Parts: sequence; structure tokens; C-alpha cells
Amino acid sequence: MNARPHLQVKLDPALHRFVTPDRRGASFSLATDGTSSLGHVVESLGVPLTEVGELLVDGDPVATAHVPADGRTVEVRPVRRPQRVPGAPLRFLLDVHLGTLARRMRLLGIDTAYENEDIGDAALATRSASERRVLLSRDRGLLRRRELWAGAYVYSDRPDEQLRDVLGRFAPRLAPWTRCSACNGLLAEADKESVGEHLEHGTRRTYDVFAQCVSCRRVYWRGAHHARLEAIVEAALREFAPVAGRGTDGG
Ligand SMILES: [Zn+2]
Repeated sequence: MNARPHLQVKLDPALHRFVTPDRRGASFSLATDGTSSLGHVVESLGVPLTEVGELLVDGDPVATAHVPADGRTVEVRPVRRPQRVPGAPLRFLLDVHLGTLARRMRLLGIDTAYENEDIGDAALATRSASERRVLLSRDRGLLRRRELWAGAYVYSDRPDEQLRDVLGRFAPRLAPWTRCSACNGLLAEADKESVGEHLEHGTRRTYDVFAQCVSCRRVYWRGAHHARLEAIVEAALREFAPVAGRGTDGG
């Protein structure tokens, strides 16, 4: 048998977090089996393919199925932002660890499925496929599952940074206060008279009701947590909403 082929691999710094420290330099040499696809080689380094954009071999773009020959230089680039996800309206499925992020995405009107019990990796991946939802997770094993329709690694463990990561990466359309943060259902306008039976007496007296979830009937009002939620919405709109329609008044 011949000596194992070697590749020279250049990983973009955005992907360094996924590999061992000795592979975080400008490039490194990697022995391969000579038959594995480039996609498999990249995955075996620890980099989820969901995070990979262009793959170049000696400067030419190739597909993940490409099998590079001995002596080639492989360049691995990160996924381009904003990332387009063709084939379905943009919607998401979050794993069990991302409950806070799920509520914030719903607050901004983004279609976000989430269950606060662990249904298991196989069921999550299957649901991603059947509902064509982009699976968000910090679990690289989950992101490697073949059944996935689309997926993305969530880079931070802090909810505010997670939200900025997702908004910057996918540029979803923002429609604050249109979706139930508890169940992802759509909100309909409501007033105190029509939803009175759902309110505690103190709430009915004090707060200004504005919406009700058409799925779970939860009532939304401008109450104690409103200022904090308003701040999250304002920050997201300021940074990520399109400039059109939000210009200055001029003169
Ligand atoms: Zn609801």
C-alpha cells in the first residue's frame, strides 16, 4: 500500500474554535485515507458542515463529495452571512438548551419551534426535516445527523449574544409583538372586555391588555416585564431591521 496522502489544510479563523489548538495556525498538514470525501475530512476535524461555506482545493471551489488527492491545499471557509436557506420560509427549531433564545426569537415574531422537554436527537432531526426548520444547537453531534434539513451552531452560551448571532446570520424578517413567546402561536389584538375571564382581578384593574394568543389563549399586557422586553426588541430593531422606513425625519 502507498503512503497515506497528505493535505495542507487552511482553516478560516472563524472555525478554529472547533479544532484542537495545534490546528489553529495558518495551515497544518493532515494525513487522509485517500478515499474519504472532503466533507467527511472536515467533519472528522470537529467542524460541523453547517458552519462551512466554500471549500477550495488549490484555489478552486469543490463540493463536499470531492476526494482531494495527495499534496493538495484545502481551504475551508465559514458560512457566508447573511445565510440564505432556500426551499421553505425561514423558520427554526431549537434544542432543549435554548429556551431563553426561543422566547426572544418569538418576541421578535420569528417562527420558532421549541419543546422544553428533551425529545432526543433523532426526533429533533426528524422534526427539522419534516417541518423544514433550521435546527439551532450548541451540540455538534446533533448538527452532524444525516436527517437534518438544515442546521446551525449557536456560538455563544449567553442569550443576548445568541440572539445577535442568529439575527446576523439569517437576517429573518422581524415582526415584534406578533407571536406568543410561550407557544409560538400568532397573537391577535384583544381588549380587556373580551379576555377578562383569563385575567386575575388585579391584572384586570392595572394593566392595558393588547393581545391574545390564538393557539394557547394566553393574554399579553403591558405589565411588569414589559420594559425589559421592550429593550430587547428595540436593540434588535436598531441593529438588524432594514434601514428603509426607519430613516430620519430630516430638516
Ligand atoms: Zn400561545
